[in-house]
Amino acid sequence: MDLSIRDITYCKNVGAHRADILRKELKVQTAFDILQQYPFRYVDRSKFYKIADIQDEDTAVQIIGQITEWHPVGIGKAQRISATFNDGSHTCELVWFQGIKYLKLALNTPYLLFGKPSRFNHEWNFVHPELTLMSKVTPEMTQGLEPIYETTEAMKRSGLNSKGMRQIIASLMPDLKQSGVPDTLGMDVLMKNHLMGLSEALVNVHFPKDIASMQRARERLKFEELFYIQLHILRQKKSHEQRVGFPMPIVGRFFNRFYKECLPFELTNAQKRVVKEIHGDLKSGRQMNRLLQGDVGSGKTLVALLCALLAIDNGYQACIMAPTEILANQHLETLTHLLKDMPEVKVALLTGSTTKKQREPLHEGLRSGEINLLIGTHALIEDEVQFANLGLVIIDEQHRFGVKQRSKLWTKNETAPHVLVMTATPIPRTLAMTVHGDLSTSVIDELPPGRKPIQTFHYSILRRRSINEFIRKQIGLGRQIYVVYPLIKENEKLDLQDLENGYNTLCDTFPEYRISMVHGQMKAKDKDAQMQRFASGETQILVATTVIEVGVNVPNASVMIIENAERFGLSQLHQLRGRVGRGADQSFCILLTRTELSKETRQRMDIMVATNDGFRIAEADLQLRGPGDIDGTLQSGLPFDLKIASLATDGQILMQARQAASDILDADPTLEDEYNRIYKRQLNHLRITTGHYSGIS
Ligand code: ADP
Ligand code: MG
Repeated sequence: MDLSIRDITYCKNVGAHRADILRKELKVQTAFDILQQYPFRYVDRSKFYKIADIQDEDTAVQIIGQITEWHPVGIGKAQRISATFNDGSHTCELVWFQGIKYLKLALNTPYLLFGKPSRFNHEWNFVHPELTLMSKVTPEMTQGLEPIYETTEAMKRSGLNSKGMRQIIASLMPDLKQSGVPDTLGMDVLMKNHLMGLSEALVNVHFPKDIASMQRARERLKFEELFYIQLHILRQKKSHEQRVGFPMPIVGRFFNRFYKECLPFELTNAQKRVVKEIHGDLKSGRQMNRLLQGDVGSGKTLVALLCALLAIDNGYQACIMAPTEILANQHLETLTHLLKDMPEVKVALLTGSTTKKQREPLHEGLRSGEINLLIGTHALIEDEVQFANLGLVIIDEQHRFGVKQRSKLWTKNETAPHVLVMTATPIPRTLAMTVHGDLSTSVIDELPPGRKPIQTFHYSILRRRSINEFIRKQIGLGRQIYVVYPLIKENEKLDLQDLENGYNTLCDTFPEYRISMVHGQMKAKDKDAQMQRFASGETQILVATTVIEVGVNVPNASVMIIENAERFGLSQLHQLRGRVGRGADQSFCILLTRTELSKETRQRMDIMVATNDGFRIAEADLQLRGPGDIDGTLQSGLPFDLKIASLATDGQILMQARQAASDILDADPTLEDEYNRIYKRQLNHLRITTGHYSGIS
């Protein structure tokens, strides 16, 4: 029977009970689904070890030897079996805690032992090793690479450990080899990219002849995953590009007046360029979906305002959506300040703290079109917020917004408004192509003039005394200081305690200064009041959790001290550092950690000290953290899950897959051609089976 419809219950070595567990733990239904549980590594079974050669606990080894004696240890439940295994020159201990009743051990008979060694009392031993009598060892068993599968605790309890999975998958091999499975890629794509067919790849990913065929199999499977993600995204991009958008051809009195009379400084060339790019989209008659990337401090807010003015010039409303209330408030303040000589632009704020009473006139103003520019948080996308003619939506600091939230804006009008997503998180190219592959991109790759690069230092907490002196000196020069503590959700209470202790210590150390404190647990009103005191210069030090990470702008603050820096990821450290270096003064970032650091943490600190370049940091971040640990929002931004491909390391395959997808869509944008049916069908299938993706189309 076709493997793609064969219920796992009826696969060999499964049965009703295990089938339940497999469905629950791995979400698999059919034999074909099981075949898509790829091994995460392989063990070379053609290699034999001697006990004396064992190096570490990480590598499973196989050894030929004999059991010279065995005996029970302990009594009752705690009883275990201990045996001595001799490879001809050395001995080691074998231990069994479970299934003792069924254990049959032949003495002084050659066995093939296979297992992971562990170190105990300076000796190697093996817990629950696989033992096979040499007389029963088949040539296949010691040939090539043995697949190792990831399994869960619940699976292990039902014998579905790596070996159990291997047995199930092995028993599917004869059918797979004989009848195969329908391929999910067309002949043209396979040939052009020198890829294995699907059936061959499935055989070789599980039971490879050799390393070369394993690698080719994995390459093919990775290609397929990335190909369908790209096909999906590029198709969406094409349909966006055809979507009608509000025409905004006019550069009118709002924009011109602001540009000529209110601009506090000359735009950087990069700012000018991206405004032009965006204006090109706005006047095109098609809907804009553009990503604006610019490192922290590159001046995105001003670009946002100029774009909003273009929309207003053309008779539309615009809104700017920020991820936090602090940021929304700050945007309001910055923008009202910039627009202080242009009272004809009506700006309003809507956040979670906006009261019912304030909302009524606000809603009215939005419905009548009297309000031109609305600034706010998530509250903006609530259903009761209706605009007269929303023409442009600007989303700031996108990494806090999921694709779903973005798509909700679409439903506000019949014609979708133009969308500009601004992010300060530089995203490596491969990731950007995947997560934001449906957007066009503009980059502000230049900082406003006169900025001195931030100097970054990494110190252990043993240097605290000299750091305190440094703080004193900087405040003496009229500067202000941030001190940031990590806040990690799982341990919120303890983190808050850290913060409060830090605050108290600072108060004791610097009785002559005033100190503000903000954290996420505070009421928005109190938070704002504290921020305000710092922004106005009333306090010299701001102690905060990462609530200040995003976007806060106090140009006079020139020192960022990050406590427990080892607990922050690279991109977070970079964001935090971006809070300083916004004025003309030399700015500093001090990373404080404990003395003992893991290698990875040390590398992270070194990168921060070495460079201010957000893109370099983002690349390093992806390499260091690996693909499994990419920011949750980014992961959930993927249309389909990745089982085998890695955005961190498979950039080459990704580019190839994107090209293949793009070639197909160029020739046949809607995938109507007979020989492209396969792609359309597979896309639909993926959407149904793995789609946690709301889609933007
Ligand atoms: P971000 O891109 O991180 O949002 P902001 O928009 O907050 O950056 O800008 C950072 C700082 O740079 C602000 O104080 C802003 O007024 C200033 N700024 C922006 N553009 C220019 C420019 N062209 N020349 C000088 N200063 C600028
Ligand atoms: Mg900003």
